[in-house]
Amino acid sequence: MTTNTAKPSRYTVAPFSGPDYQKRSARCPDDAAPCAICGKAIKGEWPHTAIVIEGGAAWGDESSDENDPGHMGAFPVGRDCHKKYAAPAAPASAGAS
Ligand SMILES: [Zn+2]
Repeated sequence: MTTNTAKPSRYTVAPFSGPDYQKRSARCPDDAAPCAICGKAIKGEWPHTAIVIEGGAAWGDESSDENDPGHMGAFPVGRDCHKKYAAPAAPASAGAS
């Protein structure tokens, strides 16, 4: 498990899918980590955390197998991206009302 206590989030867009991700993440300084969506450098405490699996094709969670070759670990997600792309929490039970 990661040492980050924040619960990993899922998003409605694919990991690393920001149009400038490559450019921005390449400029990311050593003391920061790139936002998993837009690549913007995030320094210090992560506003939100996401787990990336399937080699970057999907979001995982705490139960994702860290020994899977496609498990890429935890990434920070910036506040702007979280606001824009956070997937709505799945309802506990559907079909009511
Ligand atoms: Zn971002």
